[in-house]
Amino acid sequence: MTETTTQNPQNKCDACESCLMPFDKDTGVRESDRYCSYCFKDGKLCYEGNDLKEFQKVCCESMRKNGTNVFLAKFYTFMIRFAPRWKNTNK
Ligand SMILES: [Zn+2]
Repeated sequence: MTETTTQNPQNKCDACESCLMPFDKDTGVRESDRYCSYCFKDGKLCYEGNDLKEFQKVCCESMRKNGTNVFLAKFYTFMIRFAPRWKNTNK
């Protein structure tokens, strides 16, 4: 992937490090400045495992439950693999 000049996600932390949801899209109350209100609740990460596929499944299902369009949900789910949290788990 080529770097674009617009935004470097490594320097700018305005999206969840776990699911990449932009914080301005987060309607909940955030407890952490690194994670969104869905990923981080009651002082801990909601999904603590390190299985990217499993996490993607959980995210996709909760987005669908929140009424997210199925194509958008699939797209966001695909993008999760680029989140800082999963960088080291990708092979
Ligand atoms: Zn998140």
